[in-house]
Amino acid sequence: MRKHLTPEVFAQLKVLRTSNNYTINDVIKSGTACGYSLPRNMGCMAGDYESYQIFKPFFDPVIREYHDFSPTSRHTTDIDPGHLKSQPNLDPNSEYVLSTRIRVSRSISGLPFPPASSRGQRRTVEDVSKKCVSRLSGDLAGMYISLNDMTNSENDDLIQRHLLFDNPDEWSITAGLSKDWPDARGIYMNVDDVEDTPDFIVWVNEEDHLRIMTMKKGGDIAAVFEKLARGLNEIEEGLKAEGHDFLHDHHLGYVVGCPSNLGTGMRASMHVKLIRLSKLEGFNEMCVRMGLEVRGKHGETDKSKSGIFDISNRHRLGFSEVELIQLMIDGVTELVSMEKDLEKGLHVDCREKFQKV
Ligand code: ADP
Ligand code: MG
Repeated sequence: MRKHLTPEVFAQLKVLRTSNNYTINDVIKSGTACGYSLPRNMGCMAGDYESYQIFKPFFDPVIREYHDFSPTSRHTTDIDPGHLKSQPNLDPNSEYVLSTRIRVSRSISGLPFPPASSRGQRRTVEDVSKKCVSRLSGDLAGMYISLNDMTNSENDDLIQRHLLFDNPDEWSITAGLSKDWPDARGIYMNVDDVEDTPDFIVWVNEEDHLRIMTMKKGGDIAAVFEKLARGLNEIEEGLKAEGHDFLHDHHLGYVVGCPSNLGTGMRASMHVKLIRLSKLEGFNEMCVRMGLEVRGKHGETDKSKSGIFDISNRHRLGFSEVELIQLMIDGVTELVSMEKDLEKGLHVDCREKFQKV
């Protein structure tokens, strides 16, 4: 953020504001207030779709550097699970891959993003979302619960079960995401009678208007993707019936507040047990070379050392959903095979793997 907000760019942008009254000072609030000490801080946040146009001299270089994506590039969307090349369950006995989750960030067209939302606009987002999810049927059917209608212990329990977002932290407070908390925030969960735990979930008004996700035990990412794609289509239809849509364009793909989530808005993650491999020198760097990101199993702020890691796609923009899921299938298959090699006492060196990728 600091690098791209030169005094010249700031002087040019400081007199501008979007129709939601969002200024360049609002854009950089999280960066100026908490610096880079926090794990998920990009240091900037768009307040609405217009922010990416009006503050283009700032956002374009940020997006170029973060995603290696130029201001004239087109982003391709492909959410058709039938387009995956290989669809094996990469760990059928769930020995290494404990669970798989794919989440996407989505904005509802015509409404400012959470950092610029008024209380009323936030409630509109919740009302529209509730109408859309109430149409879901079959294995997607479930119930919406507002945070306001939950006890603290119900809230904590859902967080512990990896179903619900965390309470506000320093970053979300300074980014303007927690205004009027918990008003108009909530979660939709389907009722899955097979595993007795919800596997289709929608978060309303956390970091984005909507975070839509599917989560299942084990490593069958193709099945998770299929269910997500179905849910997304149904929600999109619901939005259209309400006179809205997911906000999308050909350059930025799905447009959301945090520039790191532009494009697919998708993080496909697997909780993988890599007790031996993760201890090797160069493990993290190797994952980065493979296009993967490593987090602790309790999410991006987790620093625990359990040997179970959250492995996900590092890229969001400039690659389609199908390409990124394929990369996860290929990458995690490789990581599991390296872990198995280590169990057999074979030599594995992370530093020499995937040097050319
Ligand atoms: P995101 O920002 O993509 O929503 P976070 O890192 O903030 O992800 O994690 C949100 C929650 O989702 C955390 O509770 C995390 O443990 C959980 N989670 C993420 N991936 C998985 C997975 N593959 N299996 C189970 N839980 C997961
Ligand atoms: Mg998160």
